[in-house]
Order: sequence, then structure tokens, then C-alpha cells
Amino acid sequence: MRIVILGAPGSGKGTQAAALSAALAVPAISTGDMLRASIAQGSELGERVKGILASGDLVDDETMAEVVGKRLLKEDARQGFVLDGYPRNHSQAQTLEDLLGKMEVDLDAVLLVMVPQEELVRRLMKRGRVDDEEEVVRKRLVLYREKTEPLINFYRESGRLVSVAGDQGVEQVTASILEAVGAVV
Ligand code: ADP
Repeated sequence: MRIVILGAPGSGKGTQAAALSAALAVPAISTGDMLRASIAQGSELGERVKGILASGDLVDDETMAEVVGKRLLKEDARQGFVLDGYPRNHSQAQTLEDLLGKMEVDLDAVLLVMVPQEELVRRLMKRGRVDDEEEVVRKRLVLYREKTEPLINFYRESGRLVSVAGDQGVEQVTASILEAVGAVV
């Protein structure tokens, strides 16, 4: 099963990616987690992206293409994956299409986790990550709306979009997702 999870910052898509990964026995690939791990390790990549994450900006597409490309080609992703945090704009969506084409596979579903704006802000404010400060949160939400939200139509038009309500209990969201995904595959 190959799934992309789309959702605003604070939508809980990371939590759901982990739950789906366990339920479907495929790796959860979170670009945000990968970047934060690089920062924690102090690697060259980590040093390069540290300030970008702290400010709420997006890391450049070329860097992200390399990060995601390498990860998807690893053995454990061969049988499937849940991709969280990528793609975030049209160029990244195109890169993903190209990568999947090379792997001769396709996405089974693109999940959209929907949460009302005021609930997103409420959740992000109490999370306490370094990029969860008010100004930075605002920037991330604006970037999501401007760059990532247009992808919803792109995937809807290709018939792969599945939407679930994210403003319910964590386990209820997971159950809705599994039901919705079961319905499309
Ligand atoms: P959230 O979705 O809650 O904003 P993520 O963990 O997905 O959190 O991402 C955190 C940060 O990592 C983003 O604000 C951005 O700086 C960087 N990042 C993650 N994925 C990408 C991506 N695909 N393209 C560019 N930047 C990314």
C-alpha cells in the first residue's frame, strides 16, 4: 500500500502516518522527522536546514527531492509506505510522480486529514516544538494554504483523493482512514 498523507500543520497527519504504518506494516516516511533527525545529528544536511525549519519556511525542492528519493529507494519501502510531509508544492508532486514512475508503482491513495483552522492553531500552540511559536506557526499555515492546498485538486482530479475528518479522537481518525482506504483499494 502506497499512501501520501496531506494535511495542514497541526492536522495530526504525523500521528496518523505512524498509526497507519503499524496497521498496514509499511514504513512511515516523515520528511519533517527526517529533517529534525539530521538537525539533531548535526549532519551537513541538518546544519543547512536548521534555520529554515526554525523560521517555518520550506526547505528547497532540490534538497527535498534528494532526501525523499534516497528514502523511497530503500529496501523497506519497496512493498509500500506512508509518506508524510511530502509533497508540499506542485514541483514536489511532479518529482514524486517521476520517482514513482521510475519505481514502476503508483499511489493507492492520497489522504487528506481535514481540521478547522481554529483547532489547528489551538493544537500547534500547545505542542511546544521550536517551530511552534506564534509567528512561525502563522507562516507555516500560510505556506500550507498557498503551496500545499492546491495539491488537493491535483490529486482529486486523478481520482486518488480520500478525505477524512481529523477533528475527532486519534483512534477514531485512524479507524476512519482505514475504512476509507479499504474502500479505494
Ligand atoms: P508540519 O506539517 O506540522 O508543519 P512537518 O514535520 O511536516 O510539520 O515539517 C516541519 C518543517 O520541515 C516544515 O515547516 C519545513 O520547514 C520542513 N519540511 C518538511 N517537509 C518538507 C518538504 N516536503 N518541503 C520543504 N520543507 C519541508
